[in-house]
Amino acid sequence: MQTLAQEKTLTGQNKGFRTGKDEILKLWEKARTEECYLEHADSVPIIRFHAFDHLGFVNAAFSTRYGGVSTGCFAELNLGFDRGDSKENVRENYRLFCESMGVNTEILVLSDQVHETEIAAVTEEDTCKGKVKKTLKGIDGLITDRKNVCLATSYADCVPLFFADPVKKVIASSHAGWRGTAAKMGQKTVNQMQKQFGCTKQDIIAVIGPSICQNCYEVSQDVADAFAKQYTKEQMAEIMFCSNTAEKKYQLDLWQANALQLKDAGLLAEHIHISGICTCCNSRLLFSHRASHGKRGNLNGFIQMTAASPVQ
Ligand SMILES: [Zn+2]
Repeated sequence: MQTLAQEKTLTGQNKGFRTGKDEILKLWEKARTEECYLEHADSVPIIRFHAFDHLGFVNAAFSTRYGGVSTGCFAELNLGFDRGDSKENVRENYRLFCESMGVNTEILVLSDQVHETEIAAVTEEDTCKGKVKKTLKGIDGLITDRKNVCLATSYADCVPLFFADPVKKVIASSHAGWRGTAAKMGQKTVNQMQKQFGCTKQDIIAVIGPSICQNCYEVSQDVADAFAKQYTKEQMAEIMFCSNTAEKKYQLDLWQANALQLKDAGLLAEHIHISGICTCCNSRLLFSHRASHGKRGNLNGFIQMTAASPVQ
């Protein structure tokens, strides 16, 4: 068997793709749902969402662990700068993934997500240009109506929320862990799309991306209490059940919690798509904070408009 170093040398210009297509397709077979499909399993794999492909003006993608140059617990495609991986590796991983999804890294907008609900409307001014790096601070949600801007957000169990308004040609990407979900990050994002860009909520298509499922997501009483303050009794019955009465442990369904709040916000039920892929159940394909006990890289969600914005 080759060592990682040998493999890297051997592949050289071939960018260090180590895991074979067959292995990746096997993992995908276990993870896949009807909402998603996988592209480029033989090089840098990309998870795509049918709901956005149907719109015809959105290039949206979600990364896996494969197709990058990182090693150890960051292998292979870590897109997190703050995980302890080398910055050079992370930048190379961005370059590889962006090449695979057809986006120039110069137009990426990255922020440091802080589990709050600040949302920024961004333009070409906010893109990272020459060097891939975070250009925004304290921001968990990004919105744009610009074509030459690609919104990038990082995950490893937290919920990615992607939005596209095909009428006003506006897209958004929000990071919602349990704190963001309880603080109604999704609702705040669509409210801002409406206020700032004149979006009609019934037009907005939403995708709830790969993240932790209810079976894998045990939470304690403080989390349950935070949700009970924000959701009705009927909704609580839909999103949470007590799995251990003695220790006061609950299983929380972040996918349903986000879907319910988007419906409450005014989105049509048929416009809310739950990708249904669990990062923790599929921790060999995807980075999972829970499954790895924190020793992991980051996945990224990317969304960009491919058609020109309407003339103002
Ligand atoms: Zn799971």
